[in-house]
Amino acid sequence: MSAILPGATIGILGGGQLGRMTAMAARSLGYRIQVMDPDPSCPARFVVDACFEGAWDDARAAADLARGCDVVTLEIEQIAIASLEAAEKYAPVRPGKAMMRIIQDRILQKTWLVEHKFPVGEFRTIHSEVDLVEAVTALGGRCFVKSARGGYDGRSQVKIGFGKINVSAEEESRNAWSLLGQLPSVAEKALDLEKEISVMVARTPSGELKSYPSAANHHEHQILAWSVIPSSISVELETRAQEIARHIAEEMQLEGVLAVELFLTQDGQLLVNELAPRPHNSYHASERACVTSQFEQIVRAICDLPLGDVSVIKPAAIANLLGDLWLDHAPRFDLALAVPGVGLHLYEKHMPRAGRKMGHLSAIGETPGEAVARVLEAKELL
Ligand code: ADP
Ligand code: MG
Repeated sequence: MSAILPGATIGILGGGQLGRMTAMAARSLGYRIQVMDPDPSCPARFVVDACFEGAWDDARAAADLARGCDVVTLEIEQIAIASLEAAEKYAPVRPGKAMMRIIQDRILQKTWLVEHKFPVGEFRTIHSEVDLVEAVTALGGRCFVKSARGGYDGRSQVKIGFGKINVSAEEESRNAWSLLGQLPSVAEKALDLEKEISVMVARTPSGELKSYPSAANHHEHQILAWSVIPSSISVELETRAQEIARHIAEEMQLEGVLAVELFLTQDGQLLVNELAPRPHNSYHASERACVTSQFEQIVRAICDLPLGDVSVIKPAAIANLLGDLWLDHAPRFDLALAVPGVGLHLYEKHMPRAGRKMGHLSAIGETPGEAVARVLEAKELL
């Protein structure tokens, strides 16, 4: 395997904030970048050499992107396999389609995890309303139903059994099934979580592998609210989480980066929640905390360069800025930036909408707790 050296062109399928921040890191390293996105004014647009307009299943646009590239990667898992195949004719696509096929379908992903003996929470696959009614009972009455394809930030998910007193399980299941478009889904037992963590792994085509210390993640309404590196879990749990994440990356023959989201349950189990084969919101703080950011790392990984040092220099946290913050008045970034150690990262999205990730704040601290306190203090001031 030979390295793709600076000066070469990297293509990214998807031009959202992950593509944008990857492009910025790639530019620093001296690469040229082009992206493909359905939205011609996507966040990456402003920092790349070229932007091709195309939907995730537009194989022709994917081919157009790849034609001028030395390597192609992606920032969203929903790129159609036909698009990956079209791109592959012109440049290596990393991560490759075998891995993408498994990950982009929750049913296949969970089945793969179970077959490979990775720990996951109890779940059922759902193909009909009847399946769902049965699953809700079998899973103890409270569950998360997630469509097999297309979900992110809690979208395409419905919760069942969370305290609507006068509604029967059958009725809730019927509603959930129709809300999810009557499409194949998984129903997961609702777990009592002690903590959520993630582990980012990078692996090169030559087989070098590095995993970052875990991040601790706090969600609100199923969307990541804040996240901190390192996670402060026990040494035993950290070792176990690292083993799981590294083993998944090896088994999948990862080329690129992979975030492994894990649940730590109140009874001490560490379970794999889901896999994301791209930079991940919970590692945005790696730009501040670690010797090498996740964005530089994906560039190194797909270009088959030596991977960067993943150690933590100083604890760092991020807090997401959702469009809701813009609805009343323009956020007071001037006040937030006065908090020591705080940085601002905006994605140049021009239409704030409730629940839309517009940017994030970051903060460093002497301890993970201090980093979180500072980033939340700054966010309050907005
Ligand atoms: P997404 O693709 O939107 O990130 P996830 O499956 O990671 O979807 O779910 C989003 C969040 O919802 C999780 O990070 C967690 O906070 C909560 N959640 C999802 N599934 C469960 C579950 N089975 N038990 C408890 N909480 C869950
Ligand atoms: Mg998730």
